[in-house]
Amino acid sequence: MCNCRTRFAPSPTGYMHIGNLRSALYNYLISKSLGGKFILRIEDTDNKRQIKGAEQIIYDTLESTGLSYDEGPSVGGDFGPYIQSERKDIYLKYSKILVDRGGAYYCFCKKKDDNSSCNCRNLSAEEVENFLADRKSYVVRQKMPKEGSTSFDDLVFGHIEVENSGLEDQILIKSDGMPTYNFANVVDDHLMQISHVVRGCEYLSATPKYNLLYESFGWEIPTYVHLPLIMGKNPDGTVTKLSKRAGAVSFLDLVNEGYLPEAIINYIAFLGWCPSSNKEIFSLSELVEEFSIDNIGKSPSIFDYEKLQWVNAQHIKLLSDESFANMAKKYVNFDVDLNKLSKILKSRISKFDQIPEMIDFLREMPKFDKELFLNKKNKTNEENIPIILEKSIEVLEKISDWNNDKLFERLVKLSDDMNLKKNSVMWAVRIAISGKHVTPGGATEILEILGKEESLERLNNSLKLWK
Ligand code: GLU
Repeated sequence: MCNCRTRFAPSPTGYMHIGNLRSALYNYLISKSLGGKFILRIEDTDNKRQIKGAEQIIYDTLESTGLSYDEGPSVGGDFGPYIQSERKDIYLKYSKILVDRGGAYYCFCKKKDDNSSCNCRNLSAEEVENFLADRKSYVVRQKMPKEGSTSFDDLVFGHIEVENSGLEDQILIKSDGMPTYNFANVVDDHLMQISHVVRGCEYLSATPKYNLLYESFGWEIPTYVHLPLIMGKNPDGTVTKLSKRAGAVSFLDLVNEGYLPEAIINYIAFLGWCPSSNKEIFSLSELVEEFSIDNIGKSPSIFDYEKLQWVNAQHIKLLSDESFANMAKKYVNFDVDLNKLSKILKSRISKFDQIPEMIDFLREMPKFDKELFLNKKNKTNEENIPIILEKSIEVLEKISDWNNDKLFERLVKLSDDMNLKKNSVMWAVRIAISGKHVTPGGATEILEILGKEESLERLNNSLKLWK
């Protein structure tokens, strides 16, 4: 066990973006692999950007991916509240402390809500007192040093150093009394005793400013782990910033397309990290076992749908027949034995939304070209097709225990009796009952699913094409 504490700090501004989910996952993996605690904090201080329902999406996503938090909204913990809008007084209190320590100042300018600089940092204590007494509206700005430089060592990106002269006096408390992200994240990470700050690299360049805040408060600076950029692959193969254009990028979109949460998590783990072995398929608990910060790289990673689909296929194969049938249910809109169907689909799909098109022939026999019967490799031709179909019907009519094993045994026997290859009979029968070149499952598996009556009707209809 260690005192490692990480936090996932999303702003409820929309869907759970893949980049956000990766931050959640890495925070989870880092704390769990070190025997520490994982905290959820909702960063909702920017009213303009809030979207209704977005907070619920965060809770639902963490639940369905298994990224359970030890402290957070509704779970509670010693450092709450865990929703920033409920912590307003805390930030105000700390902004006053910071002003007293000389790390920030009140700014009463007209254009106070932008970041342009002004003269307020030079106001005398008396002037400030007077303005406050007059209830003049204000913002609180960070007092940046004018000289020198600020540096820190990120565990992924290494040594980062910036010139202080380039840092603007950013706003910490807005005129409505709400903190900016820039202030709230520092106060909360300190008060919540966060040991490792794990987040996207878009925050890397602002981190020196946060460190100056820690220093002004006299607080210990946390360990930083900034995560590499995630790029998207466009349909034409070019690589750009991950966006809607390059396909679905939110967790829910992916789930709706038929990706399993465990496969999405497995794939996302690889966006910036790789294990020491060449193992590729991991459950969440296996990821916890294997994860190490040392194996996070800084070069951008590419979100590749083909690879995700492959990972998904592997996870689908790992599902129990029962869970598969359960998941497949919503993609099947006609009456069919889901358990039997699952047996032929499980090893053949890489995404659940492939199911409807794959099984449409089971609902209704499609129109098809009888040329499909003719197949060189399986040695079927105009002469033997009608005979095979006729004989198959005769054999099948006599079968009372209609199951795959029995059907297979009888059709193999028929091919022996007819001195044909097994594949000739299977091909002809499969085309006759499916009308499709490619089907999930072979002839006898499909016969079993269709049932005796429907199968014989289809076979007779197909035989008529040859008369
Ligand atoms: N609320 C910020 C975001 O959603 C959090 C960044 C951080 O982890 O510090 O991007």
